[in-house]
Amino acid sequence: MNLHSDHPFRVGLTGGIASGKSTVADHFAALGVPVIDTDVIAREVVEPGQPALKDIAEAFGNGVITDSGALDRAALRELIFAVDDARKLLEAILHPIIREETVRQANNAGGDYQVIVVPLLTESPLKLFVDRVLVVDCDKETQLRRLMSRDGETQESAERILSAQSSREERLEIADDVIKNQGELNELAKQVAEMHEQYQALARAHRQGF
Ligand code: ADP
Repeated sequence: MNLHSDHPFRVGLTGGIASGKSTVADHFAALGVPVIDTDVIAREVVEPGQPALKDIAEAFGNGVITDSGALDRAALRELIFAVDDARKLLEAILHPIIREETVRQANNAGGDYQVIVVPLLTESPLKLFVDRVLVVDCDKETQLRRLMSRDGETQESAERILSAQSSREERLEIADDVIKNQGELNELAKQVAEMHEQYQALARAHRQGF
């Protein structure tokens, strides 16, 4: 009987858009924790020459490809908001490819424990791939403010983006741990350092088969 786990302890990091996931992930990375970010993978898999980009062009037409052969994100975003089920189709193409690449990178990343950033973890089968769920949480007003200042969204478009995502309550429902990112950035660093201690302990227990 093998009492030792054969993979590093995996923490799924999630939160609404502009809640602070990347900022939290950067803090974990600075502590030496391998971070696998499905948002980064989602961009990599649609780079020119990748099979997923060809599948997207076949599904949505060449209007979503720029003259230089890259994905025209603005055109695709418009299509998704304008056409019923376009989002579902895009997700059906991309999600399995992103999941497969995430698992591949995690299996190669090593570390005592790993942080896997999955913005839409509430809706993702990757929930089953992680051992623990960490949610970065802030109120909707803070989220809107950060979204407008980071991405230059208008109030209206920021609200539209938020309403297309899972709710704060749905995210908190799947949380094992919560980082509150409502205040100053140094408070955030302190919370990450505390979680790091806890995850190192959990990773030790995980390795020993508990
Ligand atoms: P996400 O990855 O969840 O979309 P980010 O980590 O990019 O969110 O954070 C969104 C924006 O808010 C970024 O511009 C980031 O620098 C800023 N931000 C995050 N946390 C804080 C904080 N505690 N105080 C001030 N600004 C913050």
